[in-house]
Amino acid sequence: MKSQDIRSKFLSFFESKNHNIVPSAPMVLKDDPTLMFVNAGMAPFKEYFLGNAEPKSKRITDSQKCLRVSGKHNDLEEVGYDTYHHTLFEMLGNWSFGDYFKKEAIAWAWELLTEVYGIDKDILYVTVFEGSDEDGLAKDTEAYDYWKEHIAEERILNGNKKDNFWEMGDQGPCGPCSEIHVDIRSEEEKAKIPGKDLINKDHPQVVEIWNLVFMQYNRKANGSLENLPEKHIDTGMGFERLCMVLQGVQSNYDTDVFTPIIREIETITNTVYGKNDKVDVAIRVIADHVRAVAFSIADGQLPSNNGAGYVIRRILRRAVRYGFTFLNKKEPFIYRLVEVLSSKMGTAFPELKTQKQLIENVIKEEEQSFLRTLDQGLVLLNRIVEETKGDTVSGEKAFELYDTYGFPIDLTALILSEKDLKLDEEGFDKELQKQKKRSRVASEVSTGDWTVLIDDSVQEFVGYDYLETNVKITRYRKVSSKKEGDMYQLVFNLTPFYPEGGGQVGDKGYLESAQGEVVYILDTKKENNVIIHFTKELPSHLNETFRAVVSNELRELSASNHTATHLLHQALRTILGDHVEQKGSLVKPDGLRFDFSHFSKVTPEQLIEIEDFVNARIEGKLPLVEHRNIPMEKALEEGAMALFGEKYGDTVRTIRFGQSIELCGGIHVKNTADIWHFKIVSEGAIAAGIRRIEAITNRAVKDFYLDNNKAYSEMKALLNNAKEPVKALQGLQNENADLKKQIEALLKDKAKDIKGTLKNELTTVNGVQFLAKQLDLDASGIKDVAFELGNEFDNLFLLLATVINGKALLSCYISKALVASNGLNAGQVVRELGKYIQGGGGGQPFFATAGGKNPEGIEEALKAAREYLT
Ligand code: ATP
Ligand code: MG
Repeated sequence: MKSQDIRSKFLSFFESKNHNIVPSAPMVLKDDPTLMFVNAGMAPFKEYFLGNAEPKSKRITDSQKCLRVSGKHNDLEEVGYDTYHHTLFEMLGNWSFGDYFKKEAIAWAWELLTEVYGIDKDILYVTVFEGSDEDGLAKDTEAYDYWKEHIAEERILNGNKKDNFWEMGDQGPCGPCSEIHVDIRSEEEKAKIPGKDLINKDHPQVVEIWNLVFMQYNRKANGSLENLPEKHIDTGMGFERLCMVLQGVQSNYDTDVFTPIIREIETITNTVYGKNDKVDVAIRVIADHVRAVAFSIADGQLPSNNGAGYVIRRILRRAVRYGFTFLNKKEPFIYRLVEVLSSKMGTAFPELKTQKQLIENVIKEEEQSFLRTLDQGLVLLNRIVEETKGDTVSGEKAFELYDTYGFPIDLTALILSEKDLKLDEEGFDKELQKQKKRSRVASEVSTGDWTVLIDDSVQEFVGYDYLETNVKITRYRKVSSKKEGDMYQLVFNLTPFYPEGGGQVGDKGYLESAQGEVVYILDTKKENNVIIHFTKELPSHLNETFRAVVSNELRELSASNHTATHLLHQALRTILGDHVEQKGSLVKPDGLRFDFSHFSKVTPEQLIEIEDFVNARIEGKLPLVEHRNIPMEKALEEGAMALFGEKYGDTVRTIRFGQSIELCGGIHVKNTADIWHFKIVSEGAIAAGIRRIEAITNRAVKDFYLDNNKAYSEMKALLNNAKEPVKALQGLQNENADLKKQIEALLKDKAKDIKGTLKNELTTVNGVQFLAKQLDLDASGIKDVAFELGNEFDNLFLLLATVINGKALLSCYISKALVASNGLNAGQVVRELGKYIQGGGGGQPFFATAGGKNPEGIEEALKAAREYLT
């Protein structure tokens, strides 16, 4: 059976059981600060399990893109080494939200596997939760009894809390689960060890394929469990593993999900899969990772330096590294796999087709830049090797290479072993642990349980219409972190505060009690559909009615920037073309930032055109036309542009200003005239094919021109109020360039003179021509003198010092012959003497320099130099 058919059979089976088929949610979810990526089918539905929102339908089925590369579920390091864990995989699921429970979930799973897919019952095993003393839970006999109706009892095994109790995180909905395992070994193998002894033992042919989770508890912050008001079913079946079983192969990578990609890798890298273990691992890593990276980029998550973007960058770099090391690919090639990926999976995931070009560009550029890092790292590593005495390279140095330059440690280890050198792994680990501890301490957060004051799960957002309103606090909790200290999170019955979202920052403002007590609200965010207000302290009487007031000024400026963002988007698509897609946006009171796909620089003429386009619409006084709570399909019909981040069941809001119409939950001006004016302040590339425009509106534009004007007047005054300041400035620049040339020539002459003087000052120390002296020369002058003297002697040791702009510079020159015979090393000398001038440096064994902030130390350093010869 083809993988396409396997997927659609799953969905239509559950459709026949009255489930609604919904598309996969994006892997990068909005509104969930606790999760970077969707790591299980249930993540997009969390708000239903938590009771924060009502599902549109009580039965749902889907195939959800999941990524397990960070946090609680992290399979990254396994991927490539085994044949059944991926970074990105599809999880097939059926869902019951307070509807059917264990009986149906078990019966249907069995029917699908054995009757629809025709899997032989004799290769299946199931597990049930054995109970846990720690939680005071008994064995899940309910599930056991249902299973008994379908499968022989000796095939029902007990499972412990680790495998058979599913938890979303440290807190929240959870429950016992039943896993279904397959044993696809040969009869011969089975005769040797029975399958039941290999369940949950990491055997590559005895693997879990499906997990049926029975959500019935809520885990509280203190670790205790309470019953959920409603019981739910959450199931997840690994699509690629199911394909392996149904296609009769022994590895996920031998299914038609992966073989086309693997064939392409073989062709491009001139290798063969299945002949050599290391090559095979590399090929699997690359085949897997290109999927994860391509899907993420299609979902709007570009590789970057922090957060989710950094995780994606790391995945791609892991693939490059394996290609570089084991397939000997020193130039970009992973981007060339996007073609086959999008042609094979583009039907099920159209975003791969529409965004193909962008995905290729981004991957290619990332590959290029990491390959440059690798090149640089190799040079640095060689230097470290040169400076190493003995056969072990310091762990500290290897860590620096890894930490500062991003050079992978396993590559370091490999290169060293090829040179018959050892790596001090213990030292490396020590540094790594130190660093981990530092970042852990910095990011440690402890979240308390909610204290519920009013049991009211419905919360209303009134911020589109009101900036202030009377509210009651329904619940609050304390969150402590090293970084931000203690904070409180408050939830109200209704709120005018806009929570961060859609690029726009959250509202700030305050709460005021009837007695006049004021508590400031420092930020507002949304988590699993609940609006949370952040404060530094709690009001003294929590049960009162408060006046909740949003800062009008900040709100208006944000609104102005948000509407301008829409107009900018429209301008870009009109002027640059329809290929422009929004890739990110930030809307703050003091400005806006807009990232979009476009493959060349936006010219200065185009920038002016774009500004004019937006300003024309501001002058046109276009009124806001807003529709709230309309189904997504309807909005799309009206021509609204769908952005990433929307998921099934979302009702949306459309925002229209003239011809600009977008899906948007943000805050906007009532009329474009309120924006006053729009000004672009910068344009540039942030990644291959992605540009960023930063712009300002409203009062910020006025300030911008005032500041510019002031700077211009000051400049003119400095130019003696020249009539044509630009010309005057050019004149100064030319004059400056001439002077520079003259000075250089003079310094060269001076260096020659100095050389003569210095020669007379050389003394002989233990047969070496020695001089340590401070000179009045710049860095290149010193170098010239040193090398010229060096040409005349082959036993010279110089330590020359100078002060440039208040900073000390030490330069050490040692004749190459001395380096060879005495083991002297200029790099080492300046590093050691650098301590006197509070600085450091390095270079080559025969010439090295060190800079430092303490010129007073020069004298000491010069004195100490002589010791190298005694
Ligand atoms: P395993 O123990 O094999 O890692 P798991 O217990 O982590 O599996 P669940 O969290 O229960 O798995 O996920 C449900 C299903 O998703 C599993 O039964 C399996 O088929 C599939 N699955 C889980 N992790 C991966 C992965 N990294 N790659 C591919 N499929 C996976
Ligand atoms: Mg796992």
